[in-house]
Amino acid sequence: MPRALVIGGGVAGPAAAQLLARDGWDTHVYEAHAEPDPYAGLFLNVATNGLAVLETLGLRHRLLTDAHRAGRMVMWSRTGKELGAVPNGPAREPERGSVIVRRSWLHQVLREGSDAAGVPTTYGARLVSIDQDADGVRATFADGTVAEGDLLVGADGIGSPTRRYIDADAPEPVYSGLVGVGGFARVPGLAPTPETQHFVFGVRSFFGYLVRADGTTYWFANVTAPDRDATVTLDDLRALHVDDPYPVPQILAATTDELRPYPIDDLVGVRRWSRGRVVAIGDAVHATSPSAGQGASLALEDAAVLARSLRLDGDHTTAFAAYQEVRQPRTDAVVTYARAINAQKRVTKSRLGVAIRDAMMPMFLRRAADDTRNDWLYNHTVG
Ligand SMILES: Cc1cc2nc3c(=O)[nH]c(=O)nc-3n(C[C@H](O)[C@H](O)[C@H](O)COP(=O)(O)OP(=O)(O)OC[C@H]3O[C@@H](n4cnc5c(N)ncnc54)[C@H](O)[C@@H]3O)c2cc1C
Repeated sequence: MPRALVIGGGVAGPAAAQLLARDGWDTHVYEAHAEPDPYAGLFLNVATNGLAVLETLGLRHRLLTDAHRAGRMVMWSRTGKELGAVPNGPAREPERGSVIVRRSWLHQVLREGSDAAGVPTTYGARLVSIDQDADGVRATFADGTVAEGDLLVGADGIGSPTRRYIDADAPEPVYSGLVGVGGFARVPGLAPTPETQHFVFGVRSFFGYLVRADGTTYWFANVTAPDRDATVTLDDLRALHVDDPYPVPQILAATTDELRPYPIDDLVGVRRWSRGRVVAIGDAVHATSPSAGQGASLALEDAAVLARSLRLDGDHTTAFAAYQEVRQPRTDAVVTYARAINAQKRVTKSRLGVAIRDAMMPMFLRRAADDTRNDWLYNHTVG
């Protein structure tokens, strides 16, 4: 049985491992974290196209047992005026809309899938080097252990050592000018937002929130910051949003957990996605900022296309080339799309700019519910 070493137990790694296992590969996931991280980020959007891959994996239904359906995104101005609504899924098909889940839940569901598929995961296995020859590939981990296989799939995220092994000159992530923060809160009297996530173009920072049926609010803010290492405390954030409409200040007042700010980066233009027996998938070779809500879904799509290419082509060199050829145009397009959204989120000091946006956006969004121009994001099928 051919053996595939899968580096990274995030989203792309477990999905690829399960799909390869179905095709007769002996697969094993190696994850740097010492144990499944219960925090594992905050929450994320699993888009219609990502749900389709989870359906193939037999995990869609399980994920939906703890998900907030959010087929509609409603935009608000800094004065509390509704600017319009945009579908978070294919237009006119709200039942096929995207969902928001805690990242830890997505990880757990994928882990359950790995367990059911008989794919082992070793935690505390941090890849430090790769070498290969005509007989196979070897991964060496920080504790000195070595794993051997026929192929190595690097699903090791935006800081990927696999990407650097494939091409030492590969581009590095680029900072968007936005620092992200987020959290959870319970605001007395704040009603659930079924099928909906809200976005507020705040006076000094961009804010998003939804309220689940049990009253838990999931929120995030994108703070405009020239310095990617800027710290943002809860007090800073409350001050930034003090002049914003209800319920933004109330959500921040009800938040008690310490914030963990993260710079929002993306990555595009990686020319080589494979080298010999080694291939990279997911954020390792293309990372979109969260603004498109597509990073996890693209990672799932990559896993499906890689497995299909290996199934159809047999020879890994041909399969890896086919995988990159299929995937790169799409992932480039999504990163570019997300960059355009980031530009709108960065706070402008120009009063005129704000006035124009608030006047124009309702006109642009008036027919957004029926506008099929973004359907390419969601209706993508990977075969
Ligand atoms: C705050 C935030 C919000 C986001 N919101 C969304 C959203 O709404 N919708 C969406 O689709 N996407 C969102 N994304 C993006 C999404 O999280 C990523 O695109 C997705 O997780 C990529 O999956 P991946 O498997 O490629 O990488 P990751 O999920 O990052 O997984 C990589 C894994 O590799 C492991 N690893 C790293 N180095 C090594 C090593 N040397 N050895 C072994 N293991 C290693 C890491 O520990 C990690 O577990 C968001 C990202 C952030 C940061």
